[in-house]
Parts: sequence; structure tokens; C-alpha cells
Amino acid sequence: MTQSAAAYPINLVLLGPPGAGKSTIAAPLIAECNLQLLATGDRLRAEVDAGGELGRSIADLLERGQLVPDALMDRLMRSALEQLDPRRGCLIDGYPRTLRQALSFELMLADYNRTLTAVIALELDDDVAVRRLSGRRICSGAGSPFPVHIDDPASLERCRERGGHLVQRDDDKPEVVRERLQVYHEQTAPLIDYYRSQSLLHPIDADGTPDEVVARVIAEVRRITRTRSGGAP
Ligand code: ADP
Repeated sequence: MTQSAAAYPINLVLLGPPGAGKSTIAAPLIAECNLQLLATGDRLRAEVDAGGELGRSIADLLERGQLVPDALMDRLMRSALEQLDPRRGCLIDGYPRTLRQALSFELMLADYNRTLTAVIALELDDDVAVRRLSGRRICSGAGSPFPVHIDDPASLERCRERGGHLVQRDDDKPEVVRERLQVYHEQTAPLIDYYRSQSLLHPIDADGTPDEVVARVIAEVRRITRTRSGGAP
């Protein structure tokens, strides 16, 4: 897969409700497919932590689970796409999130000589998403932060061994989780029909352990790359 990905860089979007496991899946997927990751939530949180003008202007929106304005996302995405290595494919986690962003995204990709290969749409019921997010913590202070779940002793142990500490994202508090889900259904879910109509949609059942869902996604991306390269391995 790495070879065909290098010959024809693939550009994937990871779509799904909060709690579907986008960031958990992104890490093994980019390693397997040699992709560059562009995760808008991480970038926005980094801006907030840096405390500059941009960060201060969006901190409140993130804390309330609201979307950052499209115009600001356009600027952030353009500068992020510009920094990518043009010879390698990419995985975009967290963008587009509105129909208007999806339309801008097409123009942006064309400007950077990329086309969207596929949209991996993670599907998960709201009640499962709420359960996952309310128990999610981030293991921080021990290298790259990684997600931990309070019901998953192995992940807690991994964090303890590395000397990290557990932090809850402000927007994982129950009332904000409900708001994020509502925003997803109202503003982002319409993208599912939009990408289905363009034959770019690849739905994946996101219920299961992280390993199971990662395996489903990687198998689907393998099918996509095989189809693109005319059945070559
Ligand atoms: P999740 O998908 O689990 O809600 P993310 O880390 O992707 O979490 O995003 C966190 C927050 O960052 C969102 O609730 C929103 O406030 C903001 N955000 C991320 N991507 C976008 C985007 N494309 N457009 C507007 N806001 C965004």
C-alpha cells in the first residue's frame, strides 16, 4: 500500500460524530498508509493553549462545543495544506464540518493539486458516543498525548507507566457533549448525503474495540487504493 500511496497520493477525510473515535483511528491509519495527518481539533486546541489572538477568539466556542466560523477555518486549512509534503497523501480529521466548508475544501484541494479520494464515515449511535466521551481522558505530560478511557484498565496502566496524568477535555463534560452531538447532527451530518451523491462515501461501523474499528477502516482503505490502481496489490 505504501508504494501505490506514493505513486498516487491518496487524500482521505475522516468524518463522524464526536466520540466515534476519529483521533484513535487516525494514528494507526496514517502509520499504515504513510499519510500526513491534519487534525483541525488538535490545531485549534493548540491555538487556544498558545494564548494568542486567534486562540483567545475561539476558546469560548470550543469550550461550548460550537463550531469555529467557516472563514477562520478556511484560513487555517489553507495554511495547513500549504505546509504538507505534496508527494504524500493526507488524512484530514475534523474538516469539513459544514456544507459550506465542503465546497471551500474542493477549491482548496484543487489549488494544492490534490483531489479527495474518499470519505471514511464512522457511524455510531449517540448513546454509545455519550458513554465513550464522558469516560474519556487524555494522558498528558508523557510524550504525545493519547486518549484513555476510565473503563479501560490497560489504557490507564499505559498512562501510569509513562508517568503521565489524566486530563478531561473541557468539551467532554456531559452538557457540552450533548451540544457537540446536536451541532454534528444539524451541521455536519448533511455531508453524509453530499459525499454519498459523489460516490466518495465509505461508511464504517464504529461500534467495537479500537482494534476492531481500526482493522475495518484499514481494510476499507486497502480496497479503495486497490480499486484506484486498477486491481494492483
Ligand atoms: P470532536 O470531533 O470529537 O468533536 P475535534 O477535536 O475534532 O472533536 O473538535 C473539537 C472542536 O474544535 C469542535 O467542537 C469545534 O469547536 C472545533 N472544530 C474542529 N474542527 C472544526 C471545523 N472544521 N469547523 C469548525 N470548528 C471546528
